[in-house]
Amino acid sequence: MKDYLKNNLRRGRLVCLTGAGISVESGIPAFRGKDGLWQKYDPEIYANTSGLKQTLRNHPGRLVSFLRDFYTALLDAHPNQAHLALAQLEKNGILTAVITQNIDNLHQDAGTQSVVELHGNAFRLRCIACGKTAILKKERIKEMLGLLGVVRDSRIKLLRLLSRYFPRCGCGQRYRIDIVLFGEILPENALSMAYRYLEMCNTLLLIGSSLVVYPAAGLPLYAKQKGAKIVEVNSQDSALSDLCDYKIRGPASRVLPEILNLIGN
Ligand code: NAD
Repeated sequence: MKDYLKNNLRRGRLVCLTGAGISVESGIPAFRGKDGLWQKYDPEIYANTSGLKQTLRNHPGRLVSFLRDFYTALLDAHPNQAHLALAQLEKNGILTAVITQNIDNLHQDAGTQSVVELHGNAFRLRCIACGKTAILKKERIKEMLGLLGVVRDSRIKLLRLLSRYFPRCGCGQRYRIDIVLFGEILPENALSMAYRYLEMCNTLLLIGSSLVVYPAAGLPLYAKQKGAKIVEVNSQDSALSDLCDYKIRGPASRVLPEILNLIGN
């Protein structure tokens, strides 16, 4: 394993696919895991546009508590040693790109330049009609969460508050959070960039993903078919562990600095 990493990671031919597990040690629990968002909120409702609209109409108080829980962990999080090691590997010319399923912006916060976001970003807005995007600043979200306390169970007050933080775009339609909800298609650009990176890599590092969410979970197989070796860093087996050429079991924040030490310089 060590020999493989030392001898085969040619400059610029390593690509990573990351999932929620890489950010667990930054304080963002995986949605499906213990303490995860989906333990408290049914994803069929809260990860779905029509479910969210119905909740706003019928149970505004529940939407208030969901928004608070969703953003609180994301707002408090900082990149951990795994995010930082990947940024350094990129700086050293070894890592070409990080393809991520995460929406937390931690790869960019760590300094990684080439990040492909398959599922969007919780700190960005996107117009539902023209697709124009805008940054949703952390200060604005904090301000909104503070004001949510006043709303309580009033649908009208919640609507008024949300329309202040999710305003209308110049085209007349409304902005929404730029994340991919259940049943929505992935941004075409991101997916095609991901495929392009996978075609060029000789090693794909899978970090902290259960690999059960498609189409992202289809990417390792594509890379393998194109000739890449697959190395998995995870605290336990994923759905695709059998596909991997090498498996490293352990927390990403310990393993990635070790890999950096081994091949980074
Ligand atoms: P997942 O929750 O399905 O799986 C997490 C994986 O990480 C598991 O395989 C687990 O064994 C592993 N893991 C947990 N802690 C780890 C650690 N410290 N080091 C290494 N591995 C660890 O996550 P997924 O496969 O990314 O799919 C979940 C979906 O939910 C994604 O689409 C993602 O968009 C979204 N999500 C994002 C965030 C985030 O942005 N931080 C957080 C939760 C969920």
